[in-house]
Amino acid sequence: MIGAGGIGAAVIPALAGAGVGALTIVDPDTADLSNLHRQPIYRSRDAGEPKAALAGQFVRRLNPFVEVDPIERRIDPETAPALLAGHHLVIDGTDNFATRLAVSDACVALGLPLLSAAAQQWQGQVGLFLGRPCYRCFVGDAFDADDCDNCAELGVTGALTGLAGNLAALLAIRFLTQAGDDPSGRLHLIDALAGTQRQIRIMADPGCRACGQPG
Ligand SMILES: [Zn+2]
Repeated sequence: MIGAGGIGAAVIPALAGAGVGALTIVDPDTADLSNLHRQPIYRSRDAGEPKAALAGQFVRRLNPFVEVDPIERRIDPETAPALLAGHHLVIDGTDNFATRLAVSDACVALGLPLLSAAAQQWQGQVGLFLGRPCYRCFVGDAFDADDCDNCAELGVTGALTGLAGNLAALLAIRFLTQAGDDPSGRLHLIDALAGTQRQIRIMADPGCRACGQPG
């Protein structure tokens, strides 16, 4: 689980409760009072403590049979390959495009499945990417800069991050248990104001510099 924020705070209890065998939680930040509305696995008195360690404690209390590995590291193009290698599924719940693209590119390079979940303002997006098309095919190259929009600036309700995070957890459980249809290559779009949810198919970008053909 990359990011123990609003998305992670929904994914982590669902997967730990479901008895997923091992869970690595990567987050470099500390719990903050202003984020607790969307991070219900933390308490007010946890403010200032590292989220990865707190989330690890949450998992151990909920299900001591889950092997949990909290890592207080920032994930970027340099650190991503080593942090992700060896896992069966990567779930990205980070709040900015630069990090999401770094995670996606590393997953493509390592051949790892990526479940990407995001929520901002009143929109949520959840999708499973298996190689090609990848998350970069969907987003494009315009968002690699670190100063893109993020939740801290635009805001998001905890109810929506919870919804998107639980949908991600559901897709993760389906993927890990091979239950139901293959949900990869489709993006679930949640419109919280319209009260609708729909799916779009992601097309592979022939010029994608992560999963496209070289040359
Ligand atoms: Zn791609």
